[in-house]
Amino acid sequence: MPSVIVIGGGLAGLSAAAALGSAGFRVQVFEARPFLGGRATSFPLTPSDEASELIDNCQHVLLRCCVNLLDFYGRLGVRDRIQFYREFYFIEPGGRISTLHRGRLPAPLHFTGSFLGLRFLSLADKVAIGRGLLALRHERTRRDDLDRITMLDWLREKRQTPRAIERFWQQVLVSAINEDIDRMAARHGFQVFWLGFLARAEGYEMGIPSIPLGELYRADLWQAAGDVSLRLRAPVERIDADGITAAGEHYAADYYICALPFERLAPLGLPAPAFEHSPITGIHLWFDRPVTDLPHATLLDRTVQWMFNKSEGRYLQLVVSASRELAAKSRADIVSLAVRELGEFFPQAREAKLVKAHVIKELRATFSAAPGTEALRPAAETQRPDLFLAGDWTGSGWPATMEGAVRSGYLAAEAVARVSGRPARFLLPDIA
Ligand SMILES: Cc1cc2nc3c(=O)[nH]c(=O)nc-3n(C[C@H](O)[C@H](O)[C@H](O)COP(=O)(O)OP(=O)(O)OC[C@H]3O[C@@H](n4cnc5c(N)ncnc54)[C@H](O)[C@@H]3O)c2cc1C
Repeated sequence: MPSVIVIGGGLAGLSAAAALGSAGFRVQVFEARPFLGGRATSFPLTPSDEASELIDNCQHVLLRCCVNLLDFYGRLGVRDRIQFYREFYFIEPGGRISTLHRGRLPAPLHFTGSFLGLRFLSLADKVAIGRGLLALRHERTRRDDLDRITMLDWLREKRQTPRAIERFWQQVLVSAINEDIDRMAARHGFQVFWLGFLARAEGYEMGIPSIPLGELYRADLWQAAGDVSLRLRAPVERIDADGITAAGEHYAADYYICALPFERLAPLGLPAPAFEHSPITGIHLWFDRPVTDLPHATLLDRTVQWMFNKSEGRYLQLVVSASRELAAKSRADIVSLAVRELGEFFPQAREAKLVKAHVIKELRATFSAAPGTEALRPAAETQRPDLFLAGDWTGSGWPATMEGAVRSGYLAAEAVARVSGRPARFLLPDIA
């Protein structure tokens, strides 16, 4: 069977490797770091301590509509390690909780009952949102300007109230797309609401890994994926016509998949668009006592957007997407801001003592899904017939997410299979 070298052990490279491995190809993955997972990974909190607990670089969540990511987890036998939640908790400063969940009505009416009960929106806000969702459903396949205008342009066109924009549309989309609605192309907002909220009643269910992210791609799981060998601490330094150079050694294969972030292509002599980045900040807080019994919640009107309860309400992970305003702040300032804000939502946090804290600023978390970006995202094929691209920034049809990365990996794997004369289908269609 043909051999394939995959450069980069993030989700794009890993999914390409798993797909091709299961189709009988001989695959080698070269990853620069000592662990797999790229931007969706975990590492020891204290690297010098062998018994140190593993923490995720940042809480990663998926929705039930991420069918290719779930398929990839299935290939490694870890799909059951994703725990799904049907409730979305919105909390206002002061602690009032509203819950969004599906009821008995079929899609797209499945949220009707709980949506009408949301206490952080007025009736006028809800009427506006209802009108907006109907328009979105109608215009999604009819408009050709959705990659040219921002989501905010579209929401204003639909006369959404300021509170509906701030507390509903922005709150949902900033985390899903990692961009503010005034910078995000409307097509991405449409896709999130269509696939996550309207197309199917279960599409919105939120999946959270029950184990550290890095454990989802553990070395021993790869036996199920065919002839795939993983080379860690093997940064690729060059890509030539006859192979690659990694950690000073030369390797050759029939095909190559470059699954690196876009900013890593130029040093290897490959062209890539110069997208702008959008940062994400993850804040890990450990308290001396439980401060909440909710599994997770989205926090309204403040800097911190999401809280995830990682262990008995004592260890919380907070997430700020599109976190440009935190980029220049010190870690100590970010921790005190987070603790202060947490106290506004969870009274117990005001009494609790902070035992330790850890802040991870991912300044290059994803590309900014700005208007005009979509046309610049390349397909898997390159000018070289044996070289293919993957990565969340390539033309996957999804924004920069784990699902987008896996889709790009599957598309690159399909392209390799096609040119090798062994066509195969790996990409699963969207749920609607
Ligand atoms: C903080 C944060 C939170 C996020 N939250 C979510 C979320 O909740 N849900 C969601 O769906 N998505 C989320 N994302 C986005 C998601 O993590 C990414 O879209 C996805 O993981 C990208 O995968 P990738 O394989 O394209 O790239 P990467 O994960 O960046 O993989 C590229 C790999 O290449 C390696 N590499 C680099 N240079 C070389 C070299 N020269 N040789 C060999 N290897 C090299 C890197 O070490 C890396 O492992 C988040 C991202 C971040 C940063």
